[in-house]
Amino acid sequence: WTGGTAGQAEASLAELAALAETAGSEVLEGLVQRRDKPDAATYIGSGKADELRQVVVATGADTVICDGELTPAQLTALEKVVKVKVIDRTALILDIFAQHATSREGKAQVSLAQMEYMLPRLRGWGESMSRQAGGRAGSNGGVGLRGPGETKIETDRRRIRERMAKLRREIKAMKAARDTKRTRRLRNRIPSVAIVGYTNAGKSSLLNALTGSGVLVQNALFATLDPTTRRAALPDGREFVLTDTVGFVRHLPTQLVEAFRSTLEEVADADLLMHVVDGSDPLPTEQIKAVREVVTEVLRESDAPAPPELIVVNKIDAAEPVMLMQLRGLLPDAVFVSARTGEGLDELRDRLAGLLEDPDVEVEVMLP
Ligand code: GDP
Repeated sequence: WTGGTAGQAEASLAELAALAETAGSEVLEGLVQRRDKPDAATYIGSGKADELRQVVVATGADTVICDGELTPAQLTALEKVVKVKVIDRTALILDIFAQHATSREGKAQVSLAQMEYMLPRLRGWGESMSRQAGGRAGSNGGVGLRGPGETKIETDRRRIRERMAKLRREIKAMKAARDTKRTRRLRNRIPSVAIVGYTNAGKSSLLNALTGSGVLVQNALFATLDPTTRRAALPDGREFVLTDTVGFVRHLPTQLVEAFRSTLEEVADADLLMHVVDGSDPLPTEQIKAVREVVTEVLRESDAPAPPELIVVNKIDAAEPVMLMQLRGLLPDAVFVSARTGEGLDELRDRLAGLLEDPDVEVEVMLP
């Protein structure tokens, strides 16, 4: 259930399948259930749950992935019917981010997000644990580990909270180090461009095309997790830095928006946002909306005014001509390019040069 149109449900499910494959799963079967709202007990409703059980038996699947965020109770109830592991979109996305994070800061941020997701979901497991322990608070073993009157679940929660607090402190320290670097860059007044965009839109490819560097390009969701910064030259000879940010997806878990806030701060102090859109996507406007939501959310916390946005429609070599025409009408200020063929890249460089004011000129104007 997605609460949107049939087309949106299909696109969301296709993306979920791609995400599952990125996480290393083999996708066997897709099942769509349309409801006005999720079923309170099993999320998809008991009839559909029975049908799902049949599909699980027929295909031999060992996991069911739901496109949405289920409550802990819904997860447990659905697992009872389908008799295999049930995970939701949020858990899947968190898992992929955990697999792909490379920097120390990125890893710490994903761990924090996973713990945040886990904390309210400890209940089912904790209850059975405390049943095993006789259900009495503070009873049965755990010498020296539990405080007086503390149940297993409370101990677990407390430990997780402590680890979360420690992670937050570490992230804060790492952020301070990054801020110093950023201040140095700002002092040197090198204009900066932050690339934002939906995952797989071609952000890394464009970064490569503009800077001539070999950043990993992968036809998989989330190849880009940690920001990459490269220097490049404008047609007028000035230098600028280009930063690739994380890829966005539909329904990015709120835990991740929070966790990646400091990484996405690159967005807040950029002189320009280069918003890359996949022109060959059937629903590019949905992508644009999803990305803008996250960017707005991130910028809300910062005092700086939002940087101007340049929309770059990429993959025009692969896009439907009709779709391109529609997009040109909808986005009159956008630049249309192909990172693959190089088409439109000169125009993009010229537009960037025009939009990135020359800081030296600004200083001259201010002199008496
Ligand atoms: P990112 O996730 O936004 O960084 O996207 P990538 O740069 O990793 O590219 C995702 C996929 O799209 C890769 O398979 C690229 O080869 C492909 N791609 C990127 N730019 C273009 C383009 O201009 N045309 C076509 N046809 N494919 C492209």
